[in-house]
Amino acid sequence: MVLLRPLARRVRSARTWIVFGILAPVGMLAVSAMMLLDLRRDAWEKAEQTSRNLLQVIERDIARNIEIIDLSLQGVTENLKLPAINHLSPDLRQLILFDRAISAQDMGVILVLDERGDSILDGHAIPARHTNNFDRDYFQAHKAQGGRGLLISQPVMSRLTGARVMVLSRRVDKPDGSFGGVVLGTLKLSYFMRLFDRIGLGRDGAINLFLHDGTRIMRYPSQGGDGGVNVAGAPNFKRFLSEGSGSFVGTSSLDAVERHYAFTQVGALPLILNVAVAVEDIEAEWRAKAIVITAIVVALCGLTICLSLLFGRELARRSAMQVKLARQSLTDALTGLPNRRRFEEALTALRSDAARPFALLVIDADHFKRYNDLYGHAVGDDVLRGLAQCLLGSVHRPADIVCRVGGEEFAILIQDGDEAAALRIAERVHARVALLSVESAQIEAGSVTVSIGVATMGAPGADPLTPSDLYSLADAALYEAKANGRNQTRLVERRRGVADRRQASFRLAGA
Ligand code: GH3
Ligand code: MG
Ligand code: MG
Repeated sequence: MVLLRPLARRVRSARTWIVFGILAPVGMLAVSAMMLLDLRRDAWEKAEQTSRNLLQVIERDIARNIEIIDLSLQGVTENLKLPAINHLSPDLRQLILFDRAISAQDMGVILVLDERGDSILDGHAIPARHTNNFDRDYFQAHKAQGGRGLLISQPVMSRLTGARVMVLSRRVDKPDGSFGGVVLGTLKLSYFMRLFDRIGLGRDGAINLFLHDGTRIMRYPSQGGDGGVNVAGAPNFKRFLSEGSGSFVGTSSLDAVERHYAFTQVGALPLILNVAVAVEDIEAEWRAKAIVITAIVVALCGLTICLSLLFGRELARRSAMQVKLARQSLTDALTGLPNRRRFEEALTALRSDAARPFALLVIDADHFKRYNDLYGHAVGDDVLRGLAQCLLGSVHRPADIVCRVGGEEFAILIQDGDEAAALRIAERVHARVALLSVESAQIEAGSVTVSIGVATMGAPGADPLTPSDLYSLADAALYEAKANGRNQTRLVERRRGVADRRQASFRLAGA
């Protein structure tokens, strides 16, 4: 209970609610921000995982297809070395040289060229369809140097079929090791299109296949004429080449879009494959959620702040009202002086540890009823207000309290004041009241008079008199003043230990 009380006080405090109104939204914003960051991290992890999986599947498919073509080419080069091959019938030679792989959907042509570049054997036709590829880069490369293994060309237009293809080639050596021609197989670029098709990569996503020299073999989705572009100098490509495989976020040198790139070598081939997803697309779903969540949280924060401020303001208004009411409950409305309740509080609060005496003056207007009867109640009120000013003007120390204790009765409580001090104040009161006039009612100075009863007590700890005794004695002295002609001050002659007003004797001030 003891612990709960300060807590309850805090809950009622306007400041607590204003602080709560600020801290709660800050907390809400912090939690939401953490949640949004978490969602964003999830979106990135998901995108990275998807890209990695996709990359792996595509890479395996391409590597496998190229391997199949290469195996066919190797088969041709091996079989060409058989001494009897040239003596076989064309049909039988065809069966031995070219396996069934050449009929695969994506395989274009498979040809054997002699050392002048002329087609001498054709996997799909007997006799071979005529073409000459002496001018092709791969032909020149094999001719210039043996032992180059499999060469993969840049995308070219097939002279036999007119399709865009990538040419895979191997050198054919004569028995003496000199250049005997080239065996080549083509892979249609449409293969990549089919492979990449139906992969959802977002609006700005792309899959690219590059040769090590920076030539782009394929881009999906196609942007028209972008096959064959060389990006060897682009920072992103340099990273693909130097790191082999991995992922990073970079800006494309071609369209300036920021993307997440997952990339890898295709098997042991001089090919680089990448899957690129636009950062914008990765974050699109998250951004939509973030906007909704942020809007809701901001609205809730705003609501919390408004409610807390309103609640805090209401509490502040109520406590100000309570202070005002408390002040009003201790103030007399007509004169603005402290009222009877305040007077009684002051009287009972006379401190028992005070080492100095107290004095009390009870002041009552003489024949006040006549002013009401003669001039009306309003004028009577004016006289009362005038009297209050006279009393206030007669005391100079802030500790001295002037109160209106009843209708036309006032009291002055003098702290740390003896009989002489009380009589000096009584004298000043008479003098000031003698000057009081109310012009509107032609009440002239000297017409209003008051009677004053004075009682004193010693230091509260040392005097057997109680504060209520003090009031009773002062009242008795006032009665004496009234009984002896009014407009005068009577004071109680204190005999030590006498508190009963019936045993008290009185003295006329100044006598
Ligand atoms: P005494 O000299 O014996 O004190 O005579 P008095 O007429 O002053 O005393 P009495 O107690 O007979 O009358 C007091 C009057 O004060 C009665 C009442 O109408 C009037 N009175 C009390 N309070 C107010 C007030 O707030 N305003 C006005 N105008 N008159 C008041
Ligand atoms: Mg009176
Ligand atoms: Mg009276």
